[in-house]
Amino acid sequence: MKKILIANRGEIAIRVMKTAQKMGIKTVAVYSEADRNAPHVRFADEAVCIGEAPSNKSYLLGDKIIKEAKKLNVDGIHPGYGFLSENAKFAELCEKNDIIFIGPKSKSIRMMGDKLAAKEAVKDYNIPMVPGVDRAVTNPKEASEIARRIGFPILIKASAGGGGKGMRIVEKEQDVEEQMARAISEATSAFGDGSVFVEKYITSPRHIEIQILADSHGNVLHFFERECSVQRRHQKVVEEAPSSILTPELRENMGQAAIKVAKSCDYLGAGTVEFLVDCNLNFYFLEMNTRLQVEHPVTELISGVDLVELQIKIARGEAIMLKQEDLKINGHALELRVYAEDPMNNFLPSVGNLSTYKIPVGDGIRVDDGFEEGMDIPIYYDPMLSKLITYGKTRDEAIQLMIKAIDNYKIEGVKTTLPFGKFVCQHEAFTSGNFDTHFVKNYYTPEKLQAGLNEEAEIAALVALKLYFEDQKIVRIPLN
Ligand code: ADP
Ligand code: ADP
Ligand code: MG
Repeated sequence: MKKILIANRGEIAIRVMKTAQKMGIKTVAVYSEADRNAPHVRFADEAVCIGEAPSNKSYLLGDKIIKEAKKLNVDGIHPGYGFLSENAKFAELCEKNDIIFIGPKSKSIRMMGDKLAAKEAVKDYNIPMVPGVDRAVTNPKEASEIARRIGFPILIKASAGGGGKGMRIVEKEQDVEEQMARAISEATSAFGDGSVFVEKYITSPRHIEIQILADSHGNVLHFFERECSVQRRHQKVVEEAPSSILTPELRENMGQAAIKVAKSCDYLGAGTVEFLVDCNLNFYFLEMNTRLQVEHPVTELISGVDLVELQIKIARGEAIMLKQEDLKINGHALELRVYAEDPMNNFLPSVGNLSTYKIPVGDGIRVDDGFEEGMDIPIYYDPMLSKLITYGKTRDEAIQLMIKAIDNYKIEGVKTTLPFGKFVCQHEAFTSGNFDTHFVKNYYTPEKLQAGLNEEAEIAALVALKLYFEDQKIVRIPLN
């Protein structure tokens, strides 16, 4: 592979290009009119504009991207995450045009991209599943019957769902009909597919996922877990590796289950098998994401591998030169997704101009970003600005470094999740490791965040006052 095109934008486009450059591979960026001046465009060796700002007129135009790739003699396309990354038709289009899709075969994407098809695929592999049904449900009566059997609360889920969208919790029978109609309409508008199904709603779960890699020589390895329980709107905000609750035995069981899931769909490349873990440490298969995951850096830091490099090598047909028994967890890594969102106002997107943007630097700090000072945040795409990742020998070290890094990350012009990240890192439930996917609901309020900020401001004022008096003393000494 001499030249790859990155069919994405922002931090992930740059992240992939960095590894390609390291491997001596030329890179091609694609961009929409809104991203004309974006850093990922300048980072690449070549760049092509593929259309207007809305993603369905640019980053989602598979045909157009392939056409440009052919013109520029590209041999591989890396889709990043989001956009076309889990689009089986796009992977197929690459296959047909003799361009290597850096990811699994279209067949595996099709199986795992749909949550119902995924449940079907893993059926014979003895993987623990969340109680519920593995077929589409259209009739509220049927949903009520299932709910009576498995017990309320239930979760009505879109089969084609992703990014935490298309889910409805139903606590009691009277609400089934209305919530089901909403779930179907949400799924239809968000994913163009209104299929929904019913799962038992696990009340205090942790979201723990396993990174896997499979090559074309029959090797399938797991790269341990990522704990992603701190979420808002069913979407992750803080992730870490390893999880503080897994025993070596449970880790191995979940790792082997993830490997079986990968085998069930004849997987190739990097993928993630997501599980829910209940308070009795039972784990249940949730879904498989057939792509590089947002939070992959925490795995890279604790396992010492470059996942994008391995993706590219696997796509070139090389065998993974690692053995499961050689893989070891080293240290602890934490990631905060820095979203342009207002944690004081329901995490609503906060658009504007990045009037100040200065990243923290230092040992153990990694910032994956795609923005710079002075840029406007486009309203058309996911509002994630960057990922702040810290690494330490212990969990506590990684947490303390995260707090320091948040303090040294200067962003003005938009509201961000940085103060929320600090709130999490200082909260007893998080530091003790005793939390679940309801961290935000159970512990977080804007008032608490504000109280913390006020306290900090007070301390800063006292420190300033003390320094002032000390200065006065120093000034006075020579005068006396
Ligand atoms: P991850 O699953 O990698 O931990 P997210 O759930 O946040 O992270 O998804 C990654 C990105 O992909 C986000 O930009 C999200 O909006 C987008 N995304 C994921 N799945 C879908 C989907 N099925 N349809 C549209 N966008 C999706
Ligand atoms: P997506 O494709 O949007 O990522 P997932 O099935 O991975 O959908 O679920 C996203 C999040 O929603 C999970 O991390 C978890 O917090 C919550 N969730 C999903 N299914 C259940 C369930 N059956 N019980 C409790 N929480 C769930
Ligand atoms: Mg998921």
